[in-house]
Amino acid sequence: MENTSNKKKNTEINIYSIGYKNVLPSELSRIVDDLDATLIDIRYAPTSFSPFWKKDFLQGLYNDKYLHIKDLGNINFNNNNDIKILDLERGIDNVLNGNFKNVIFMCACEDLNECHRKIIKEYLMKKYSIEMVEIDNDFLSENF
Ligand SMILES: [Zn+2]
Repeated sequence: MENTSNKKKNTEINIYSIGYKNVLPSELSRIVDDLDATLIDIRYAPTSFSPFWKKDFLQGLYNDKYLHIKDLGNINFNNNNDIKILDLERGIDNVLNGNFKNVIFMCACEDLNECHRKIIKEYLMKKYSIEMVEIDNDFLSENF
């Protein structure tokens, strides 16, 4: 596997995050459009009981504006063990080595503080001084 860890990183990127249980599928589409963002699915298993949140559906809807990065998924999403991200460094390297301007990291969880989004947020700040912006009600009322 190519070692990309020493490549120059794109730290000009804007990184947002969202828990899709907070929005309707149509609202998410509008947010993705308005932010001109790539939707990055950070679920370990990108599936759902709802057809709207399954990987195949999202891929069909967003085409090349959708990407699933399993490395950023929480291995323990379906049990009560502590959050463990598959490969946080490699996952973020892939994002920062790409040509993205705006990305939205998407998980299901409503609460950032109970989701592995929080670990990713802290990592981005600590390692790259990148502020990950949560798309919450405050953000939506100010921007949409
Ligand atoms: Zn989550």
